Amino acid sequence: MTAERSAVRAMLAWSLLEAVPVLLSGRLMASALDRGFLAGDSCTGLAYLGAYSAALLLGAFGTRQVMRPLASVVESVRDRLVRLVVSAELRRAVLVDTEADTGAVARTTRQTEGVRQMTAGLLMTARTVAFSVAAVVIGLLALVPQIALVTMVALAVSGVLLVLLSRRLRQRYATSLSAEEDLSKEAGEVLRGLRDVYACGAVATADRQVGHAVDTQAAASMAVARLAAGRLGVIVVGARLPLVATLLMAPWLVRSGTVTPGEILGTATYLIIGLEPALRSVVQTVANVGLQLGVLLLRLADRVTVPSEPGGGSAKVAHTGLKLEEVTFGYGPHSEPVVQKLSLSIEEGEHLAVMGPSGAGKSTLASLLAGLDRPGAGEVRIGGRPVEELDRAWLRRTIALVPQEAYVFAGTVRENLSYLRPEPRPGDGELASVITLFGLDELVARSGGTDGVIGRPDALSQGERQLLVLARVYLSTAPVVILDEATCHLDPVAEARAEQAFIARPGTLVVIAHRISSVLRAPRVLVVESGTVADGSHQNLLERSPLYADLVGNGSNSSA
Ligand code: ADP
Repeated sequence: MTAERSAVRAMLAWSLLEAVPVLLSGRLMASALDRGFLAGDSCTGLAYLGAYSAALLLGAFGTRQVMRPLASVVESVRDRLVRLVVSAELRRAVLVDTEADTGAVARTTRQTEGVRQMTAGLLMTARTVAFSVAAVVIGLLALVPQIALVTMVALAVSGVLLVLLSRRLRQRYATSLSAEEDLSKEAGEVLRGLRDVYACGAVATADRQVGHAVDTQAAASMAVARLAAGRLGVIVVGARLPLVATLLMAPWLVRSGTVTPGEILGTATYLIIGLEPALRSVVQTVANVGLQLGVLLLRLADRVTVPSEPGGGSAKVAHTGLKLEEVTFGYGPHSEPVVQKLSLSIEEGEHLAVMGPSGAGKSTLASLLAGLDRPGAGEVRIGGRPVEELDRAWLRRTIALVPQEAYVFAGTVRENLSYLRPEPRPGDGELASVITLFGLDELVARSGGTDGVIGRPDALSQGERQLLVLARVYLSTAPVVILDEATCHLDPVAEARAEQAFIARPGTLVVIAHRISSVLRAPRVLVVESGTVADGSHQNLLERSPLYADLVGNGSNSSA
């Protein structure tokens, strides 16, 4: 932030130097004529012209120096924007879009790149324009105040004109941008299905569909161009009118001795060399780019504002007992339900294991308990409240569902472990004890300590990744942890150590068991088999569930 501020300061300081030639141009021309050529002293006249050339060199040096700070300002704007846009697109993809929008990231990235280029162009030109106009006004006020006043009025009128025209133009530009997006969508759809289009003889229909989008887009672009051309009036009012007024007033002003011929030349210099190019830049670059930038930023803002997860409410509850009431769930409207009329209560702080053959519905049950899947019939309650009424972000912080696939990201060990607890971040002591608790000391030492970087997470073994994720969840504040075979790549010793850590951690623990040993550690067990669930203690289930007796009795190494 401070680096950014000093870049802005440097940029402004060099801009001042860049404006020196404009500021001095009229004054030096006036002196060259009055004190030099008209006074019969050509050497003095030439000396003033030489001084103007020196000022031009100084200004060029300022322009060169301005580039570096300008680049850092623009790059940091771009970086922030990219971060914002990409994370919003990812959130949107997960939470909102029902159908994958394959073009979304490419489109928004292109728009972000557009923003970067436009910001650079805009900063470069708008800065020069602002400093030039200020230099012209200051120079004119010092040279011929009467004409300075006329010029200021003309500038104010042209400013109002510019704002009014730009407003209309913004609407037309937004329409043209939507038309462009519609066109890319239509054309994209047709191109994706080109084979089918030919196979079904739908060429004429596709042609009509895309052709209409092309026509709409062309008309919208023409409308923008027509209005943009109208903005030339801004130059006429702002710079040409004061020049005409100066020339008309010149004979009277010179004759009355109010101004000298050199001052008239100086005024014309300010208006022609300083003001007119500045206004031309406003119309051609600043207004256009500013307009496009404004519309692009509004569109990006639309994409960046991702609505909260659908179906979520705003309730948060103090207790975290989980309850399924007559829950039925299937993956499709016509598919066989995976869970049927299941009722189940898990008290706060309970530890239970879930076992059953592969495909029996254990992961589905975990997902229902975590509120990720919604039942087709019946109700899932957390802390007594239906899961639909709960705030989604709160729910995610409250129930940690840990799958088999362990996601470790490139970053430091500390960042990976603290990811689920940004506030208050675990301190060094707590991190060290959790690292030891999960047997991660060797991995952490290999990575260069807690602040060492895990550059290539895929180079870690699957077990190491699972351990890192388990330690991350252990450090989180989630009072309910559901381990869905999250220890499947650990050896029995590491698995036992990790599970013991979670058992000792306050809160509810549900373990979808990968090994019988996990089941034997739990005081309560659910045996899931083709939509039904047997629920009880080890002893109780040995008597009641043939499947349980079979699996445990065999001492099988797997829950399947
Ligand atoms: P388990 O965890 O016990 O192996 P699952 O809950 O993963 O069982 O799966 C239960 C049943 O639901 C299986 O028949 C499986 O094929 C099916 N299933 C799981 N996930 C999906 C899904 N996303 N879409 C469709 N069917 C699924």
